[in-house]
Amino acid sequence: MKAEIISIGTELLMGELTDTNAAWIATRLPALGIQLRWVSIVGDNLDMLSEAFSRGLERSDIIFTTGGLGPTQDDLTREGVAAALGETPTVQEEAVRHLEQQFRNRGTDMPSRNIKQAQLIPSAQFITNRNGTAPGWWAERDGGIIVSMPGPPAEMHAIWDEEVAPRLLKLVDDEVTITRNIKTMGLSEAAIDEIISEFFGKENPYLGIYSKADGNHLRIIARAPDEAAARLLIAPVEKAIEERLGPHIWGYDEETPEQAVRILLRQRGLTLATMESCTGGYLVNSLTDSPDSASYFKGGVVAIGDGVKIAHGVPAEVIERHGAVSQETANAMAQAVRKGLGSDYSIGIAGDDGSPPGDGPPSGLAYLSIVGPNSSKEMELRVPPRRVTVKRRMSNNALIELRKLISSEGGR
Ligand code: ATP
Repeated sequence: MKAEIISIGTELLMGELTDTNAAWIATRLPALGIQLRWVSIVGDNLDMLSEAFSRGLERSDIIFTTGGLGPTQDDLTREGVAAALGETPTVQEEAVRHLEQQFRNRGTDMPSRNIKQAQLIPSAQFITNRNGTAPGWWAERDGGIIVSMPGPPAEMHAIWDEEVAPRLLKLVDDEVTITRNIKTMGLSEAAIDEIISEFFGKENPYLGIYSKADGNHLRIIARAPDEAAARLLIAPVEKAIEERLGPHIWGYDEETPEQAVRILLRQRGLTLATMESCTGGYLVNSLTDSPDSASYFKGGVVAIGDGVKIAHGVPAEVIERHGAVSQETANAMAQAVRKGLGSDYSIGIAGDDGSPPGDGPPSGLAYLSIVGPNSSKEMELRVPPRRVTVKRRMSNNALIELRKLISSEGGR
């Protein structure tokens, strides 16, 4: 089933409002087996709307629209759909009563202009909107469908989850869609594209690549009459990706770097301690997301200034000789916190905060050190010098590298 999304509103065209609705809907379509082909933005203009709907009906099986269902003169989605289908809207008495009741519940009378929201054309049905006065429209004619939803994201999300997605499932229920997410770190999108190029550009299974703060994710989406058949379509692609990208894969599906580390540490009864500078506590924060983190995470030092590092066991001469942003200091941080807290593994991250004074070290540079009972790892990390990016990417990198080091020592 081919789909398109039309986001409606002059505010969107003027750049005053960002179209988050289209992205939200887009992420939900693959799992329903619906292929999104076009996304467009159309202003509050009847001719442009009806033209966009007519063209959409020619090239797509289903059109999703958001916005323009309000009561004012510039809310023209209903009129646009009616014009595209050549039908005339009429006021539905039952819908008027329902609207009047909604306004009474809020302690006011219904303004007369809201009558517009009780209009319907013969090919459309209302879609209930529990969170607002604007009901959606599900219009269906000659095999083409236009689903019109209100613009406010909270209203649209609820309508989608409660009304639209279940109807779509019935439409496409002759197929199931299964996705498998494979998470990698350490290879660029271009490098991945080259290594597994033959799997891209296919419809079923579809392979997509998405760049995230924890690396590049590969999503395989397969559609088949049943789950077992869909998994059979995924299996050879997954196997090839594992064979070719193996050392760079750190997780699957919803797994996060901290969960991947948690699973491994718990499985092996190991403990961890951290000392970080430029990540400003992000690492400790991620590691303590899980309620049972105290069983494997002994604690972390957020050592922004040299004094904190020294107070927690980093030799002052290491910092003096090599600088606060150096591999040697990162190593000393990892060793000091490991010794101080008596953990099996430790992580040290020594970097600048993204805005060094004068001719200090380059922004977005940090050194990572991981120390364990049998092995250790050193690494220079470079990320775009934005504060949040530095914190998130470096923490994720550290956790993914820790997971790799522990798994390389046997087991998973
Ligand atoms: P209402 O009954 O509230 O007027 P509506 O269906 O007419 O709903 P619009 O008037 O077009 O919707 O938009 C209302 C608000 O919804 C916008 O001011 C904006 O905050 C939000 N909105 C609309 N479209 C989008 C979009 N594509 N992405 C994100 N937010 C949106």
